[in-house]
Amino acid sequence: MEPFRIFDFIIVGAGISGPFIADELCRAGADCLLIEAGKKYTRKTYPTNGLDGNSQLYWSGGLELGHDCKLAFLRPKVVGGGSIVNQALVDRFDADAWNSWRSQSGVDFFNVEDMAPWYDKAEDAIEIQEIPAKFRNKNAEIFDQGFKNMNYQNAPLRRAQSNCRLEEGNCCIECLNGCRLGSKQSTPETVLKTALENGLTLVSDTEVIRVEDNKGDIRVLGLEKGGGEAIFRGRHLVLGGGAIGNARLLLNSGFGKELPHIGKGFYCHPQFMSFGVYDEKINSHTGAFQAFKSDDTGFRKEGFKLENVYAGPEAIALLVPDFGLPHQEAMEKLSHFACIEVCTRDTHPGRIKVNRKGKALIRKVQNEEDRRRQDKGTRVIENIFKSTNAREIIHGRFGIGLHLMGCCAMGTDPATSVVSPDFHLHGHSHIFAADSSIFPNAPGINPSLTIMAMSKRAADAILKQTNYGQ
Ligand SMILES: Cc1cc2nc3c(=O)[nH]c(=O)nc-3n(C[C@H](O)[C@H](O)[C@H](O)COP(=O)(O)OP(=O)(O)OC[C@H]3O[C@@H](n4cnc5c(N)ncnc54)[C@H](O)[C@@H]3O)c2cc1C
Repeated sequence: MEPFRIFDFIIVGAGISGPFIADELCRAGADCLLIEAGKKYTRKTYPTNGLDGNSQLYWSGGLELGHDCKLAFLRPKVVGGGSIVNQALVDRFDADAWNSWRSQSGVDFFNVEDMAPWYDKAEDAIEIQEIPAKFRNKNAEIFDQGFKNMNYQNAPLRRAQSNCRLEEGNCCIECLNGCRLGSKQSTPETVLKTALENGLTLVSDTEVIRVEDNKGDIRVLGLEKGGGEAIFRGRHLVLGGGAIGNARLLLNSGFGKELPHIGKGFYCHPQFMSFGVYDEKINSHTGAFQAFKSDDTGFRKEGFKLENVYAGPEAIALLVPDFGLPHQEAMEKLSHFACIEVCTRDTHPGRIKVNRKGKALIRKVQNEEDRRRQDKGTRVIENIFKSTNAREIIHGRFGIGLHLMGCCAMGTDPATSVVSPDFHLHGHSHIFAADSSIFPNAPGINPSLTIMAMSKRAADAILKQTNYGQ
C-alpha cells in the first residue's frame, strides 16, 4: 500500500456488518479500507474438520470462557466473521423485540414498520431457502414429530443458502467451518465480493490494536500476524469488530472515560444442547444440516426458543458429561443421538473489561430468571425426546454464547449508551458502528439478518452525514 494514503473510510472487522457497510460505501464511490484480524480463506482452503475449524476460525483458538467458567463463548476471527461459522439462520425481529429496544434506548426507528424496507434490502443481498420436506433428516423428523406429539408450534428454518446440492445426494454438513460449496451466503460470497469489485482494499491477518480520532484525521494502528506494526489513515472510521471486539478496541484506545457505557450491557443468548439417545440410528450428521425451529407463542413469552441443531463430534464430546470410560461409552452411541438446543433470551447483562495487557475479560452470569428460562426450555426438550421414545436423555454440561451482542449500545442518552441514533459514537461524528455491539438488549431472535438490515440503514445515514456519493 502506498505510504501516506488517506482513505475516506477505514472499516475494522470483516464479519457481517463491516462488509455490508463497505459494499454500500464503495458503490457510492468512497475509497475504503477494510481491516480484519483473521485470515482470508477460499472455498478450497476452509478447514475440513471441526478441530481445525475451531482452532483456525475463532479468537483464542476456539472457546473463550467467562470469569466463572460456567458459560463459554464463540467469537469468530476470519474474513467473513460470523457469516463463515454460523448456522445461517435468518429471521426478522418481531414487535416484541423492537418495542423492548425502543423503550430501553429511546430510538424511534426501532419498530417493525421503519425497519421493514431495510430488511427488504438485506434480503435482496442474499438468497434464503427452507429445507424441502423430502430432504429433512431423521434428526429433523424427531424434532417435528415431538412438536406434533406435544402440541407445540414449530416452523421451517429460513437459511441463508443458495444451493446445497441435496438433489445430488450431497450431505457435507460443513456449514460451521466455512462452506466449500459456496452455497452459504457468507459475506465473502455476497457483499464483500461486490465491494472488492468496486475498489475496496482488504487487509487480512492484521489486528487493529488502537484507534485515534483527531476530528477528521483518523489514525489506526494495526498489528500484522508476523508481529509488524502498520499505521493507516482515514477521514472516517467504521467499527465492525462485534460486541467484544469493539468494546476491547475502544477501551484499549482510551474511550472508556468519555463513554462509560462501553463494555456494559453484554448479552449472548446462552444456548444449551441436549441429546436424545434412540435404539435405532439417527445419523444426525447426514442429510440437510437443520430444518426446524420452534414457533410457539408460549415459548416466546417464557423467554426461550428451540432449534433443531447438529454439532460435530468434537463439540459434542466437549458437552457430553463424564470422563474416561463412561464418556467413551456415551460417545460410541453418537450415531443414535438426536440433538435439540434451547436458546434463552437473557435478561441479565454482563460486562467486558480489558486487563493490563489489553486482553478482553468476560464477566457474564445467568441470574435466577435466565436459569428459569433455560430450565423451562430443557423440560420441553425432555418432553419431545420422551414422546418420541428416546431411551436416554443427555444434557450438555455447559452453555455456549454464540450471539454476542451489546457493549456499545445505541441510545439517545450518552450517559447510558455509546452510539447515537445517527450511528456515530456520542461526541465523535467521524466514528460509526452498526454491528452486533450496538444491540441495547437481547432480542431472543437470531441476530444476523438484523445486523445486515441495520448496516444497510447505517450506510445510508453515513453517506448522508459525510456527503459522499452526493
Ligand atoms: C457457531 C455460531 C452459530 C451462529 N448461528 C447463527 C445463526 O444461525 N443465525 C444468526 O442470526 N446468528 C448466528 N450466529 C451469530 C452471528 O454470526 C453474529 O451475531 C454475527 O456474526 C455478528 O456480526 P458482526 O458483524 O457484529 O460481528 P462478527 O461477524 O463477529 O465479525 C466481527 C469481525 O471483526 C473482527 N475483529 C474484531 N476485532 C478486531 C480488531 N481489533 N481488528 C481487526 N479485526 C477485528 C473479527 O475477527 C471478526 O471477523 C452464530 C454465531 C456462531 C459463532
